[in-house]
Amino acid sequence: MVGLVAVSGCADSTEGATDEGAEELEEVPTYIVGTEPYFPPFEYADENNSNEIIGFDVDLINAIAEDQGFNIEWKDLEFDALIPALQSGQIDMIVSGMTITAEREESVDFSDPYINAGLALAVAADNDEIQDVDDIQGKVAVVQQGSTGAAKADELKEEGLIEEVVYLAHVSDIVMSLQNGRGDFMINDLPVTKSFISQNPDVIKIVDDQMQSESYGFAVKTGNTELLEKLNAGLENVKADGTYDEIMEKYF
Ligand code: GLN
Repeated sequence: MVGLVAVSGCADSTEGATDEGAEELEEVPTYIVGTEPYFPPFEYADENNSNEIIGFDVDLINAIAEDQGFNIEWKDLEFDALIPALQSGQIDMIVSGMTITAEREESVDFSDPYINAGLALAVAADNDEIQDVDDIQGKVAVVQQGSTGAAKADELKEEGLIEEVVYLAHVSDIVMSLQNGRGDFMINDLPVTKSFISQNPDVIKIVDDQMQSESYGFAVKTGNTELLEKLNAGLENVKADGTYDEIMEKYF
């Protein structure tokens, strides 16, 4: 996954004099980035441009890559396949609105947090039964497989508070399941739920926007400090030079 690009040495370089005639080799690594690109506004397909992946995370990692001098190749995976893919070396990092959790820290290393995005509770727009979190008793939760929303729903089920948890692959499937009555409520990241509502008004509504506070990080394989340092240094730089704020402005 590391590409070598030949860069000719500078003619006036004093170092060049020691190994005359030799070309300097500068490493320009290409990192494979795993993502589940059905998660607007963080990563999603641009319908107007041959389904290219766009979003907040995409702009942010591109800015960091430019700052740190590396290339990116995207790999589209299901959300619950991302950590195994990182562990097996199929991908070099995860950029997928992934929440930093203590449990995940046991399997991967996270960068510094790059945005706060907590969990929200939402129901079908015409649901009058669930008005707040106290009304979910005995109800069916629909969540994204492998997500923190799923973990939260599992907790509620274990506590005996809710009846059932249905796991689906993408947030769009979850929204549909509330529409067709397969589930009563969803637990998902607030900015993403908001994004779905702005795209499809009157399908679902938020009844609690502060179920749990969370932060996203980029994940690398445990012990890959070289890449982790680049991500943290790049993040710091794009925050300092105003690029981060521009990206924020663009998507929120
Ligand atoms: N932030 C949530 C999590 O990390 C959901 C992420 C996602 O679906 N892309 O579990």
